[in-house]
Amino acid sequence: MFDTLTESFTSAIRKIRFHDDEKALTKALGELKKALLKADVNHKVVKELIDSVEIQTKQNGVGKDQFLDALRKSLYALLDVKGKSGFVYAPVAPTVILMTGLQGSGKTTTTGKLANWLKTRQKKRVLVVAADLQRLAAVEQLRQVCGAIDVELYADDATKNPVEVVKAALEHAKKVLVDVVLIDTAGRLAIDDELMGELAEVKAVANPHEIFYVADSLSGQDAVRTAATFNEKIGIDGVILTKYDGDSKGGVALGIASQIQVPLRFIGAGEKMEDLEIFLPDRIVNRLMGLGDIEGLAERTASVIDEKKAKALTKKIKKGEFNFNDFLEQMESLKKMGSMKSIMGMIPGMGGMASALKDFDLENSTQLKQIKALVSSMTVKEREDPELLNNSRKARLAKGCGLDIIEVNRILKQFKNASKMAKRFSGKQGMKDLQSMMG
Ligand code: GDP
Repeated sequence: MFDTLTESFTSAIRKIRFHDDEKALTKALGELKKALLKADVNHKVVKELIDSVEIQTKQNGVGKDQFLDALRKSLYALLDVKGKSGFVYAPVAPTVILMTGLQGSGKTTTTGKLANWLKTRQKKRVLVVAADLQRLAAVEQLRQVCGAIDVELYADDATKNPVEVVKAALEHAKKVLVDVVLIDTAGRLAIDDELMGELAEVKAVANPHEIFYVADSLSGQDAVRTAATFNEKIGIDGVILTKYDGDSKGGVALGIASQIQVPLRFIGAGEKMEDLEIFLPDRIVNRLMGLGDIEGLAERTASVIDEKKAKALTKKIKKGEFNFNDFLEQMESLKKMGSMKSIMGMIPGMGGMASALKDFDLENSTQLKQIKALVSSMTVKEREDPELLNNSRKARLAKGCGLDIIEVNRILKQFKNASKMAKRFSGKQGMKDLQSMMG
């Protein structure tokens, strides 16, 4: 997320070197403007931002620190609209959210992603309601999505009336004590009166805490315009931009909140259920300025790592007992963290590296595939203690997973060495050794 934007931003910031010189400030503002326009940020928003940075820098005496401070504050003001960000819970459960958007924007997928985010990262009980009864396949699609993430779906195949469905779903939600109700509403190819009429009716009966509008970031400024129309007609409280992994330059995300005065709340960047990121202005500003997002990274790690298991694993590593069973489990956890590229963008100073890793796919790397094939063919006992493997067993395993026996030996040896290294560096002395090795 934000690779292109961060790259052009940080490269503009790197070029800026000045001390109390107004000419240098003009040049710096020019660099910034170029970076913003290159990322397709709306030109009015660019002007607003540049003017604000200029005024604030001058107020505090022209210099690089003042400039960076002004930039940080101006960016924050641009993104923090109405003081709302991320997910806001209603004072009394359940928090009811209406998910709206045009057909094809990614509304159904995003409803699933948000349900998954609430369940796995926030430990909430979620009920998804199928109230998109316009498109025949919509309910079925939602059923599949909810099945995959193991979240309850409320659907009623016997009616075509979304108002009835929502009424009954909310009664059900109160009975079973859910924390959040996500209502998937009807989508159309374009905005029309019938759709708006239906949404108004559903809104009246659902009395939602918030209405989210799902917009396809690939449609650029069109996404901003339709979001504005939805806001005028039914009122929206937040925007979720989808398909951010596509080749959009990212500018929409920077401009939309200020253009329609509705905050951006989440960003979808991929087709998997894990590919949804919360949009928090201060974290995004840090990222844009090349400072990474350590908090975001820590949260993501915590969501996939079970603390008890992590402790047990550390013990095993220290004793040199890390085996192939642990390895398989770790690989599964890593997959849940999302793409390598999205993780890199959160590490300070690594934002620029993210685009270089665009095509690096951990799951599909050939070496990893070979290891996984081999490990899956081994018995549980063999994974614990690969020394049990004799030559004929190794030959059989090699044949079974389409490898050469030399490759099998290489993988086993590599693993043994890695386990030894991990043991060596996991103790206090190990950390000292590592530091001295790194100079
Ligand atoms: P709906 O008609 O608005 O409900 O749209 P869907 O949820 O069916 O999504 C339309 C298409 O966009 C599907 O093929 C989704 O997999 C895809 N999609 C949704 N969100 C994203 C995203 O963030 N990234 C990518 N690459 N594809 C997405």
